[in-house]
Amino acid sequence: MEIDQHPYADILRKELMPNIWCSGCRIGRIKNVFIEAIQQLGYEADKCSVVSGIGCSSRVAGYLNLDTIHATHGRAIPTALGVKLAKPELHVSVMGGDGDILGIGGNHFLALGRHGLDVNVFCMNNFGYSMTGFQHGPTTPLGARTITTSGGSPYIPINPVAVALAAGYTFVARSTSGHPYHLIDCMVSAMKNRGPSFIEILVPCILYERRNKIKSLEALYLEKAEIKETLSKEDVDQSDFMKKISLGIFRDAPVRERPQLSLVKSTKKLADKKFDVKFRSRASGIKHMQIRMEGTGGQGIVQGGKVLILAAMNMDPKLNSTLTKRYGPEMKGGSCLTDVLLSSQQIDYPFIETPDLLIMMSDLVAKERGGEVVIKNKGTVVVDESMVDPRLLETLPKTVKVFKIPATQIAREEFRVVVANNVLMGYVCKTTSIIDKNCLKAAIVKSAPPGTEEMNLSAFETGYKFRKS
Ligand code: SF4
Repeated sequence: MEIDQHPYADILRKELMPNIWCSGCRIGRIKNVFIEAIQQLGYEADKCSVVSGIGCSSRVAGYLNLDTIHATHGRAIPTALGVKLAKPELHVSVMGGDGDILGIGGNHFLALGRHGLDVNVFCMNNFGYSMTGFQHGPTTPLGARTITTSGGSPYIPINPVAVALAAGYTFVARSTSGHPYHLIDCMVSAMKNRGPSFIEILVPCILYERRNKIKSLEALYLEKAEIKETLSKEDVDQSDFMKKISLGIFRDAPVRERPQLSLVKSTKKLADKKFDVKFRSRASGIKHMQIRMEGTGGQGIVQGGKVLILAAMNMDPKLNSTLTKRYGPEMKGGSCLTDVLLSSQQIDYPFIETPDLLIMMSDLVAKERGGEVVIKNKGTVVVDESMVDPRLLETLPKTVKVFKIPATQIAREEFRVVVANNVLMGYVCKTTSIIDKNCLKAAIVKSAPPGTEEMNLSAFETGYKFRKS
């Protein structure tokens, strides 16, 4: 029989060959095993997606002529989750190494077991970070020499199969690069399993072999490994290539049914109610307007900035605008500010030195500045007086207009405290008239979480109608 091309040629990016792997590396073989498994299953190439992170093993994704993503280090699993959520009909696999999947991406590896989504994780375990010269990683054997453990690794390695079983993966297996037919069977079964699947694939790395004076790891795999039909708890721990390795499928379980959360249902029901605020766009006359909203993380400061910018764009689509935000590492409870710049001209620099309008939801930012309230001499400050120490405003020049409303107190008493930003926004709208009321309301509807539009609009109206007694 004559064939005019290699049977795997359609699923390979031939233009990228030859590959970058060292001569004697077995990652290329795992790539071929994966192609063989896809072909045995009869999956169409455009229904298969492969995501990888960083490292020698992660280069597999680049050589496959499928829809592939070469993600950042350790982030292959969350990227694959995103692909699966967006396109549930795709067969999504993660291919990478122990450092990427179990080290840097270790928490994502745990999380996938809990998520229960149908994503396959094929982890090539070569006992360290090989691409960067071989640093030790989570699976480096005790006593093994790497460039970061030159005297021998002092750490107990994790057992990937045991961790996958504990994390809730519905399919868990172990194989090696020296057992390609066994690995094909494992991959086929893993891809048939409708939950998260994990295969630990032992592969040799010549850097590890050289440093640890091992002639051939693969020869050791062939010598020490035994493929078993049924596996016991003891077999989970049999993964030492110097002693005994148990290969096979440790778990192939159906996916558990999940209860439908009542919270999700009720939110969806509320979200079905459509809110539509009509507005009319017009020339705003704004030449250059700098607005700052400042307060405490968790008060909706960034959200408020987004509402302002969206409303401004609704009002005058010809305006140029930028939004920058800043908050401390603690985020919730720390200082937070959002700067919105509106201009009829091109904006070259998005940061604000001194705002024309300052919306203060708390005094934390001002206190961090030593009590200074930063505003232009002829600017306007709108203050949530439930949250701002009035003494801070006493030093402002008389030319600054100050408007006060107990926005948080109103929100707490009449709605929920989380809509205090929109109580304040309603008052800003009334006192400054910078942005059209309906444009602001339309922006609030667009940015409010589904089901909360009505409450947010009522909070805005309450702020708009507020009068000081
Ligand atoms: S460094 Fe090791 S894992 Fe990387 S290509 Fe070479 S042999 Fe393979």
